Amino acid sequence: MNTLHASPLPIFSIDDHILTGDNITFRLSPNTSGRFQSGSPDTIVIHFTAGSSLSSSVNVLTNADSGVSAHFAVGRNGDIVQMLPTNKIAWHAGESYYEGRSGLNQYSIGIELDNAGQLKARGDGTFESWFGEIFGENEVLAAQHINQQSMGYWHKYTDVQIVRTLSLCKALCSHYNISTIVGHEEIAPSRKVDPGPAFPLQRLKAAVLQSDSETWATESSDSNSQREAHDQIQRDLDSAVKRVANVSANSLNVRRGPDVSFPTIENGLHKGEVLKILEKRGEWAKVSYTKVGWVNTKYINEITEKSPFKS
Ligand SMILES: [Zn+2]
Repeated sequence: MNTLHASPLPIFSIDDHILTGDNITFRLSPNTSGRFQSGSPDTIVIHFTAGSSLSSSVNVLTNADSGVSAHFAVGRNGDIVQMLPTNKIAWHAGESYYEGRSGLNQYSIGIELDNAGQLKARGDGTFESWFGEIFGENEVLAAQHINQQSMGYWHKYTDVQIVRTLSLCKALCSHYNISTIVGHEEIAPSRKVDPGPAFPLQRLKAAVLQSDSETWATESSDSNSQREAHDQIQRDLDSAVKRVANVSANSLNVRRGPDVSFPTIENGLHKGEVLKILEKRGEWAKVSYTKVGWVNTKYINEITEKSPFKS
């Protein structure tokens, strides 16, 4: 994926509190508490919609009954919808706290990115959103959220969506005195996980607030990190679906590595002994019991467990 390096950043500007540039449309939301106090906005809050499409999320954010709004929504094809002028307060942050201030709506611009959010592993290599859409593993990042205890699965953002969000933040920063860019997960950590680990929030902060475009270019997603993410998902699927086994042979050798050429660290594990599977490589599995070592999977019975998300 070279698009982040190759394509020049789109140029946006703010003119009379309205964003100008290509592929930007407007749909006014009634959900505002009026103008910012002077000195605001000084913060940008990044969100995911956890929705099925840009249009469905914009419908919610512009519906008077929903009680929510944001200044901008960024689609997966890069289209941007502005829903409030940037001198008006939107309702995106909710109960929130950051660096001594609460109620971040009164200080911040809210940007929503069209993204399905956190997904459930279905155990067959695919993943499901809360609204029932199925995603293939190439659309999913496996990562542990800073606010969560265990591994989760996250719908990836598109490159054009990230790049145009970056340009939008740059335009906001050059027009307003923006000092802070945060994720919703950082200002409401007990109840929010957006934009989540699939969004390069730290790189965006560096690129916008420190004009660190070097960081942006060199650490952009490349084929290596894509492959690592893919491998991680494979490992997670193995571990999520089949994590436990018992010994089926009467006596099983445990080795230091995944081949008979490795020395044994245990001669003769007994039949029925329960092993936790840590990793698999070919027909070998790395297991833990009182020790950690490799066994040939021909001599164990794997016990299928449900994925950690299904009850
Ligand atoms: Zn949010």
